[in-house]
Amino acid sequence: MNDFELTLLGTSSSQPAFGRFPTSQILRYHNDLYMIDCGEGTQIQLSQFKIKRNLIGVIFISHLHGDHIFGLPGVITSFLHYSRTTPLHIIGPIGIKKYVDTCIELSGSQLNYVLNVTEFDANIAQTLYEDRYLSVRSLPLKHRLPTMGFIFEEQPQPRKLRPEKIEMFGLSHQEIKTLKADQTVVREDGSTLQPDEFNYPKSRPRRYAFLSDTIYDPSLVEAIREVNVVYHETTYLNDMEKEALMRMHATSLQAANIAVAAHAGMLITGHYSSRYKDISAFETECRTIFENTQLGLEGRVYPIL
Ligand SMILES: [Zn+2]
Ligand SMILES: [Zn+2]
Repeated sequence: MNDFELTLLGTSSSQPAFGRFPTSQILRYHNDLYMIDCGEGTQIQLSQFKIKRNLIGVIFISHLHGDHIFGLPGVITSFLHYSRTTPLHIIGPIGIKKYVDTCIELSGSQLNYVLNVTEFDANIAQTLYEDRYLSVRSLPLKHRLPTMGFIFEEQPQPRKLRPEKIEMFGLSHQEIKTLKADQTVVREDGSTLQPDEFNYPKSRPRRYAFLSDTIYDPSLVEAIREVNVVYHETTYLNDMEKEALMRMHATSLQAANIAVAAHAGMLITGHYSSRYKDISAFETECRTIFENTQLGLEGRVYPIL
């Protein structure tokens, strides 16, 4: 099993269509789950794909359009039936607190856990969240409402010592600890042991970028350069470029262009317009310029490698 992976729960734009649900995703890092957006029907998808919802610690909301938040009241109030006791954190743009508070208050809902809601200005790129596993930065997107993309980056991992060196140099417990902590060991005879010679090379932290909803915006490329996986909305196929711009969305080829320019490892498509019953062309079109495109499908799991 991968330790870092993404499950898509909803891939539809604006409304449920052809069995597809509006946007929601679950990012898993070891046993911690992070939800991204919460469109209508997210609870149905959580059950269908057997997601352990009590493991969700944080919900990130990109913007306040209904197809990204109309599932939220149901998800946060139904934890009562799942005996949740751990706190839940919602992070989103300005207005999300009023929305959540109003839903809870007007529906007379009781929560059996602590709910924290934190608002950020979606127009500023900034660190939104950090824990022992991940840090999350926002990326302002150009859309009809203030909208942010998210870049999830794993925290630097402790270095791994080459086992053959332990015996070769007769390393003590303390020396091993020091080298793993990336520090130089100075021995009694004055000789030094350098961490780079004793550890395996540092692995680059893996990153996942979520970019929805947005127009085609090449200025996003810099922030997601060499990202392992990027989800970029593809509301329309290539022949609908004009409509995409008008409604502040993107097409298949525009998303693929971003992935190419950023040298991304993988592109996942999604946020499909309800005009498309068959979505296979999204993958075909993207692959004409970016081969490692994976069609975004609900219930499919994508490793962040
Ligand atoms: Zn949307
Ligand atoms: Zn939107």
